[in-house]
Amino acid sequence: MKEPTLGNPQETIAVLQKYNFAFQKKFGQNFLIDPRVLEKIIKAAEVTEDDCVLEIGPGIGTMTQHLACAAKKVIAVEIDRALIPILQDTLSGWENVKIINEDVMKVDLAKLAEEENGGKPLKVVANLPYYITTPIIMGLFETHVPLKSITVMVQKEVADRMQVGPGTKDYGALSLAVQYYAKPYIVANVPPNCFMPRPKVGSAVIRLERYEEPPVKVKDEKLMFRIIRASFNQRRKTLANGLKNSAELDFTKEEIAEAIAAIGKEPGVRGETLTLEEFARLADELCRD
Ligand code: SAM
Repeated sequence: MKEPTLGNPQETIAVLQKYNFAFQKKFGQNFLIDPRVLEKIIKAAEVTEDDCVLEIGPGIGTMTQHLACAAKKVIAVEIDRALIPILQDTLSGWENVKIINEDVMKVDLAKLAEEENGGKPLKVVANLPYYITTPIIMGLFETHVPLKSITVMVQKEVADRMQVGPGTKDYGALSLAVQYYAKPYIVANVPPNCFMPRPKVGSAVIRLERYEEPPVKVKDEKLMFRIIRASFNQRRKTLANGLKNSAELDFTKEEIAEAIAAIGKEPGVRGETLTLEEFARLADELCRD
């Protein structure tokens, strides 16, 4: 088995110079150059030789090399065409890596899991492009791609949002969605100097362990998420007003008031104080079938 060659600043600079690569800000390109952080991600992801790993945004292939050594197979989806010849070079010799030059948001990942892993759950491991972290994570959950876990580098603030509960300023629709589908824990905080170029914000590695069964039962999952979005769209308003003003919902004032009372809350309650379980009960009260 080949040993990884990438993972420190010198090697990264050598590859970038060889190909005269120019960073594209619009693709959120901040490449990892710290071997200790790489090690932490791979360890937290618990990749074994039975695993098929999906890496979103392999960059020049630094983490991909490390993943390829640990996994059965790695599927690396990279949007930037200029990185493809680089990846073909840095990943030559690893027969278990498949490079796909695509926007991950346009890839049918459930189909990919079917084709590449016989429909068995994938592990997602990535240093995500920060401009689309939330849509990527929500897309993975909502489209029901078979997944074991997601271990990703994200903006520190976003990692905090994913794991907090009611009553904190970071609590919102992302916290509730992540916690409905997975158990989150922050693996490490990562400072800007571990990347090239340095991002303006701090980062964190977070692991989301997919639940086999969600922790709460709800009759209509989609309705619950519409209610959650409506509640946080207008943070300063009451829950009742948030639900009434939502374009995604069509409940009367009376129906909303009744449902809020039925879950034991005051008429003036704010959405940000409700737990996931309370949102599920509220959705069940408002469900029409
Ligand atoms: N994994 C590399 C590393 O850790 O050094 C690069 C991480 S960099 C933060 C994000 C990567 O995602 C870049 O390579 C970027 O080109 C790629 N990317 C950005 N948007 C993407 C998209 N929509 N689909 C696939 N890849 C994308």
